[in-house]
Amino acid sequence: MRDLSVSVIGAGMGGLTAALALQKLGFKVRVYEQAPALGEVGAGLTISPNATRALDFVGLGPFMAEAADKPSAGALVHYRTGEALTRTQRDGSFKDTYGAEYYQIHRADLHDALVAAVRAHDEEAIRLSHAFDHLEQDENGVTASFKNGTKISSDVLIGADGSRSAVRGSIIDTVQPKFTGQAAFRGMVPAEAVEPYMTIANSTTTMGPGHIFTRYYLRHEKLVNVVGIAKTDAWKEEGWSIPATREEFLTEYQGWNDNVIGIINAIPKDKIFKWALFDRDPIPEWTVGRTTLLGDAAHPMLPFLGMGAAMALEDGVVLARCLEKYATPAEAFAAYEEARKERTKGVLLDSRKQGIWYQTSDPDNFTGFASTGELRMSLMGYDPANVEI
Ligand SMILES: Cc1cc2nc3c(=O)[nH]c(=O)nc-3n(C[C@H](O)[C@H](O)[C@H](O)COP(=O)(O)OP(=O)(O)OC[C@H]3O[C@@H](n4cnc5c(N)ncnc54)[C@H](O)[C@@H]3O)c2cc1C
Repeated sequence: MRDLSVSVIGAGMGGLTAALALQKLGFKVRVYEQAPALGEVGAGLTISPNATRALDFVGLGPFMAEAADKPSAGALVHYRTGEALTRTQRDGSFKDTYGAEYYQIHRADLHDALVAAVRAHDEEAIRLSHAFDHLEQDENGVTASFKNGTKISSDVLIGADGSRSAVRGSIIDTVQPKFTGQAAFRGMVPAEAVEPYMTIANSTTTMGPGHIFTRYYLRHEKLVNVVGIAKTDAWKEEGWSIPATREEFLTEYQGWNDNVIGIINAIPKDKIFKWALFDRDPIPEWTVGRTTLLGDAAHPMLPFLGMGAAMALEDGVVLARCLEKYATPAEAFAAYEEARKERTKGVLLDSRKQGIWYQTSDPDNFTGFASTGELRMSLMGYDPANVEI
């Protein structure tokens, strides 16, 4: 099927990984992105070994080894005392246990690398200012219509347009988000401004009643990425770039230890953002005719396991392999769904459970971390480049 023309809607992590995997396997791909310019928000991304394997498959292994941070130690910390509840030694151990590295990277750095790699295969591959509107399809192909008036026909179409996917809206359903009663704050701060507060481990999550606070280094310990998730219904807007004030952030973390308060106080005022957390149920179908979905368009999930982007990267690699292996789009999409549906549904539901565990556990009577070794192995031992399809 290498002569197949493939349209991908959305140049996020999932769409670009799918495009690159397809290019690597010899397909011609066009990626249509609504934004007039490419870029990602200033936030960190954890890349667990399963996602590292997807990046290895598309040729970004050397880039990750060079550009990403490998936290040598992690810890879960008590919100009031600031003392470790559990510690994990990470240096080298992820590679030994799961066969690939665990990384933390600036989202913009990984996004830039994906864009450059897709364009290195084909300078014309990414089309900006193309907001997908609707599609029509028959047994021979798909025609996508964009808000700028353009119509594009291809043999197959992949909707990688995120958690409010318009492609999903035009083939399956409009995504029904449910507000979870939680909101997240994010910020980025130069490491030198928070050095006294970076104790215990270079990657930590602090846990308190109804709240967590995660911070880790990026760009070879020059920056610190901060995310706080709080039980609140103070606002209900979903979006990555809604400005928040330092006072709002501090109000949620009153009574927390000096390291947490010190870091929040050090984040530059124009680098604090907030968004409400919404949840969606798994759906039974991702494919209709010659159109399928991947990443958040197919299975948006809560961030408590840090696996949303990882699932999008895995999807991209498995989908490309299926299109290479099978003789028709129908067979390829059926094999892709078969390979991915149970896994992504399981991770979506486990992300929910992990969130409930964080929100309801009592750090004063801590009995151990929620996720078992078995769960971690099934999550991080997965290999999208070799899994049976
Ligand atoms: C607080 C938080 C922390 C997270 N941390 C992690 C983490 O550490 N590790 C991890 O693995 N995951 C994490 N995630 C999840 C992760 O960010 C997402 O799962 C991931 O970005 C999904 O990738 P995607 O390509 O499917 O969608 P997106 O990244 O949302 O990309 C979708 C793209 O489609 C474009 N688009 C949208 N609509 C249209 C349209 N109509 N026409 C054309 N283009 C369109 C968008 O502009 C965008 O470029 C986190 C999420 C949150 C909320």
